[in-house]
Amino acid sequence: MTDIPYKIYLEESEMPESWYNVRADMKNKPAPLLNPATGKPMTAEELGAVFCDELVAQELDDTTAFIAIPEDIRKFYRMYRPSPLVRAYCLEEKLQTPAKIYYKFEGNNTSGSHKLNSAIAQAYYAKHQGLKGVTTETGAGQWGTALSMACAYLGLDCRVYMVKVSYEQKPFRREVMRTYGASVTPSPSMNTEVGRKILAEHPGTTGSLGCAISEAVEDAVTHEGYRYVLGSVLNQVLLHQSVIGLETKAAMDKYGIKPDIIIGCAGGGSNLGGLISPFMGEKLRGEADYRFIAVEPASCPSFTRGVFAYDFCDTGKICPLAKMYTIGSGYIPAPNHAGGLRFHGMSPVLSQLYHDGLMEAVSVKQTDVFEAAEYFARCEGILPAPESSHAIRAAIDEALKCKETGEEKTILFGLTGTGYFDMYAYEKFHDGQMTNYIPTDEELQAAVSTLPKVGE
Ligand SMILES: *Cc1c(COP(=O)(O)O)cnc(C)c1O
Repeated sequence: MTDIPYKIYLEESEMPESWYNVRADMKNKPAPLLNPATGKPMTAEELGAVFCDELVAQELDDTTAFIAIPEDIRKFYRMYRPSPLVRAYCLEEKLQTPAKIYYKFEGNNTSGSHKLNSAIAQAYYAKHQGLKGVTTETGAGQWGTALSMACAYLGLDCRVYMVKVSYEQKPFRREVMRTYGASVTPSPSMNTEVGRKILAEHPGTTGSLGCAISEAVEDAVTHEGYRYVLGSVLNQVLLHQSVIGLETKAAMDKYGIKPDIIIGCAGGGSNLGGLISPFMGEKLRGEADYRFIAVEPASCPSFTRGVFAYDFCDTGKICPLAKMYTIGSGYIPAPNHAGGLRFHGMSPVLSQLYHDGLMEAVSVKQTDVFEAAEYFARCEGILPAPESSHAIRAAIDEALKCKETGEEKTILFGLTGTGYFDMYAYEKFHDGQMTNYIPTDEELQAAVSTLPKVGE
């Protein structure tokens, strides 16, 4: 092939005009969300009490392959997209591997991650419906930041419930959100009934994601003109994130590059689902073959050690049940787990694809992840988010295998964001104070034994 640029940026005219819905090409569709009270599939009407109407339609649409991206969202995308597809020459050289390594970098916006791709879409549909605002929870803070940016752009009110321990440990994240006009409340709070109840039962608790979700949902359903939005796991989020994969595929096709292995970190599955969607579509239609690898932390191993079953999405058990790979909604990752990706379950779309043998998964230890993060920072210049560094770890491992076998494979991975707000975790790693927690079989069995008995 002729000269391939070091960094491939698409022209504006080459950017995707539609999102791609991989469910349309799946023979086995992801299982429907169930109403926890009735055990029956959630209807559009039931979902509409919590989520925006257009997003409910996208959530339930298993058949439309391409969904047009509204012009206002494309306008916003143009401010920070296309994101670059970068050839990791320096990393290859340092590893002395014959593999060619590419990464799609999603950290080039103020929120520092891919989450803005879905935040702007969800805020747009809320605005379009004439709503006043949206509520959400945030753990590490990337989702809350992305949503506050999107809401500021559209003039929507944004209420973020931030897990109290993050609120206190990541004051700068909180201030970025406030800069964009969001109200940020440490959770559990006195704002909601569920928050007051938890505080009464557990005074001094530092909160959890599950509790913050319950508060955000309650806030939305008890206030006229508000809906709840979520930054991962849901089908609609994977749909919006397909912009990552569509841009990547267009850039690779333009220069005749075909990846052999596609790797992404997996928390709730949105970046990985978005990156692989168009490639998975080709595989599902029998047009091409790829290896897909999900990378998860050994301390929160939904794919590699979980079960495929209906489970709650939140610890408060108020959200719909989803059929997914899960280690149980009652499972709480060890407090010394710093590397993100703490969600107990996994996107129902990716869960089905994994169950059908179309995708692989590996788990990696926390210290190995930070070792890869530091190695990458020193040769490629970008300080990666701990979450993203799971994918870096697996990409390096695959490149080292190529070194042994002499195979010139092309490896593509998703670099989801930057890690400037995670320096406390980096500090622990540098000081040799980072430990690896791997749950025992007994612990996982105990968490899984509390799964709801439905849909069996
Ligand atoms: C949220 C986040 C992830 C994990 O979420 P997914 O939905 O699995 O993509 C990964 N990387 C970064 C930088 C994030 O902010």
